[in-house]
Amino acid sequence: MARASSDLSRKRRARKMARVLEETHPDAHCELNHETPLQLAVATILSAQTTDVRVNEVTPKLFARYPTAADYAGADRAELEGLLKPTGFFRNKTNSVMRLGQVLVEQYDGEVPRTLDELVRLPGIGRKTANVILGNAFGVPGITVDTHFQRLVRRWEWTEQTDPVKIEHAIGALIEKREWTMLSHRVIFHGRRVCHARKPACGACTLTKMCPSYGTGPTEAAAAAKLLKGPRARELAVAAGVDPELVPAGAMAAPDVP
Ligand code: SF4
Repeated sequence: MARASSDLSRKRRARKMARVLEETHPDAHCELNHETPLQLAVATILSAQTTDVRVNEVTPKLFARYPTAADYAGADRAELEGLLKPTGFFRNKTNSVMRLGQVLVEQYDGEVPRTLDELVRLPGIGRKTANVILGNAFGVPGITVDTHFQRLVRRWEWTEQTDPVKIEHAIGALIEKREWTMLSHRVIFHGRRVCHARKPACGACTLTKMCPSYGTGPTEAAAAAKLLKGPRARELAVAAGVDPELVPAGAMAAPDVP
């Protein structure tokens, strides 16, 4: 009985925090620029060990040069490596992208498949990437458990799990399915802009009253406001009841965090 009531109170608290996050980050979205499922699949492969900002610098030229899966399958390796070099680990990424193109051509008529089972069998696509593709290219609700998501849901004590798949299931049980994709974006936005790994901006955070980890970072407004990041950093301060003038102008650059 005690367990059932603590599960219920955890669910209530999680949903309340999710509503605050919705108000805090109305601009939350997939930060990898893309127009098609193939472009998103390629961009997510490239995003390993680098920032979305860096990937977005590379993809306009890449997508123009390689518009179809067949183009990646038949790519000139040296040319593709040259384009992918700025994203790091470019030899591995070139392999993954070329093999992805080959499998899509051979098995799926050049189209990206629409199920988790099929997606995770594709070269370079893990469960996290598959959920990004499902949620953002196909509108199928998916929870993206990246490093920010893992850190924040544990700070919020939404789950004690450490394994990404178990985290995904635990959060899926707390939050309504139709919210999963947007929740993932909002949590990741909060992780990149407010609740940083080393120094979270606790004193300038909209979740202060509900967060069990309040105090992990500076709680004093002036110190916390300096930690806010992104084009809406001053609006984030206002939302948290903090003077926006305390946010330095330099904070407004896009957060360049992996
Ligand atoms: S109060 Fe601190 S630890 Fe909690 S969500 Fe906000 S920034 Fe993160």
